[in-house]
Amino acid sequence: MHELAVCQALMQQVEEVACRESATRVTRVTLQIGALSGVEGLLLQDAWPIASAASVASGAELRIENVPLRVRCLECGSESDALPNRLTCGVCDSFRTVLISGEELLLESLELERTGAGDAA
Ligand SMILES: [Zn+2]
Repeated sequence: MHELAVCQALMQQVEEVACRESATRVTRVTLQIGALSGVEGLLLQDAWPIASAASVASGAELRIENVPLRVRCLECGSESDALPNRLTCGVCDSFRTVLISGEELLLESLELERTGAGDAA
């Protein structure tokens, strides 16, 4: 699958942030993944050590937060949880809904280490 490519793109972001923050090491990476992001968290965990090897984030922990799938109803205005195969309103069962969350693939936060520079961000 494309999880390795996703990890490699993620690594670029991680390295950019680490560079900007003058970090010498990244110890933890937290990702937010929605149910409709098309990315499998477990496969991402598998690909992560390969993508992060020999980088500033080598050995970093990859934490994945699953973002719930939520829709807003255009009929009754309610917001409710939904399933990937059933994006209907949880209140009135209407199909006229818009996705509020669930497509995320976001770098949520990084834990960085700086040597000799006091507390890390
Ligand atoms: Zn509704």
